[in-house]
Amino acid sequence: MNPTYDVAIIGGGIVGLATALALTRRGGARLIVVEAEQDVAQHQTGHNSGVIHSGLYYKPGSHKARNCTEGRTALIQFCQEHGIPYECCGKVVVAVDAHELPALDELERRGRANGLQGIRRLTAEEIREHEPNVVGVAGLWVPETGIIDYRVVARKYAELVKAREGTVCLKARVTKVERRAGDLILHTSQGDIQARNLINCGGLHSDRLARLCGLDPGLQIIPFRGEYYEIVPERRHLVKNLIYPVPDPRFPFLGVHFTRTIAGSVEAGPNAVLAFRREGYRRWQMSARDLLGYAAYPGFWRMAWKYWRTGLGEMHRSFSKSAFHRALQRLVPELRCDDIRPFGAGVRAQAVEPTGALVDDFRFVEGERMIHVLNAPSPAATASLSIGRTIAEMAARNFGV
Ligand SMILES: Cc1cc2nc3c(=O)[nH]c(=O)nc-3n(C[C@H](O)[C@H](O)[C@H](O)COP(=O)(O)OP(=O)(O)OC[C@H]3O[C@@H](n4cnc5c(N)ncnc54)[C@H](O)[C@@H]3O)c2cc1C
Repeated sequence: MNPTYDVAIIGGGIVGLATALALTRRGGARLIVVEAEQDVAQHQTGHNSGVIHSGLYYKPGSHKARNCTEGRTALIQFCQEHGIPYECCGKVVVAVDAHELPALDELERRGRANGLQGIRRLTAEEIREHEPNVVGVAGLWVPETGIIDYRVVARKYAELVKAREGTVCLKARVTKVERRAGDLILHTSQGDIQARNLINCGGLHSDRLARLCGLDPGLQIIPFRGEYYEIVPERRHLVKNLIYPVPDPRFPFLGVHFTRTIAGSVEAGPNAVLAFRREGYRRWQMSARDLLGYAAYPGFWRMAWKYWRTGLGEMHRSFSKSAFHRALQRLVPELRCDDIRPFGAGVRAQAVEPTGALVDDFRFVEGERMIHVLNAPSPAATASLSIGRTIAEMAARNFGV
């Protein structure tokens, strides 16, 4: 049997690693991060838009609002300390039609309530001063938004955890959790790991891991694939920085947008289509277990009933490049269909309630000697250092570490 750890963290994504980092900063706890894949950041953390979110969208007072604004500041300081490339380039949110103006007003109100600095309403002419190829009736300038590569950030977190005597165990998928003589035994593909306490940061598998630990999560993760296109190099000049539509306030997704990446490319997307498998990065990747799991979950059918129309629109955009292009062309009319080409995908872990409601805020649930992170969608990468600190404080209270 391996040595007994004070804390085992399941999941080597940015949330698990930030939690480990926060715990090692407090000192004193022997900890291990247990990751199924051959490297860290292989799922949501390594397949996202690479945006440092400002905190614009989130309900004031929510976990998302607080952790995003605090986390952004901490992330920027972390990047400066460790020489990680990032850029605070700002973004414009564009109302293309007058009917989007009330939602733009609400975004501005939320941004101010969340303490964002420098946000400013833009006229149609002022939008073009920031983004010469965008056409809209009004816009919002959000200067605190930035770009980064979260894989680089997560690898640095892992490096620091190891430098502070933490263990990162790769290729170790947790398949079973048992309580034995007051400890927890994690059965993994690398053998058993004994720990006094556990933190579940399993992303797309967090609900299953909670069940393995004997906790009813009261929700189910439904994976939504986000597909990207990129603008061909000769036409990248159409986009200077980040261009977003006004999102539909009923959904936690932001709508297809343009993002200049820290590597210099310009991505367009992501859409949001139901994935037929938890790690369904490609359209036809399926898992019978996952599909049966959706079918057996009443929340899935209630969600499908509520949002079938939007879901069909997203599916259509997934299958039809010209439909995807039309959504983008609303923002940048000069963009031609042959200016974009497919460019990978990410899969979001979206928690869904039994009522069919999409869980909007981050959700942390405590059990005996356990903390489960059951919903950590965007902006959890931006917010990671703040989320890590929040969980480390919960661990100090719950586990006494
Ligand atoms: C398309 C897309 C775009 C996004 N854009 C942004 C953005 O621009 N800005 C932003 O801030 N956020 C963005 N996000 C959100 C952000 O990427 C996630 O919120 C964040 O990465 C979540 O991190 P995580 O550690 O919880 O999950 P993950 O990165 O998915 O990590 C979970 C880890 O748990 C491991 N695991 C699962 N089951 C087991 C098991 N049984 N045993 C061992 N290990 C296990 C997995 O292998 C995985 O490595 C985006 C997400 C997506 C999908």
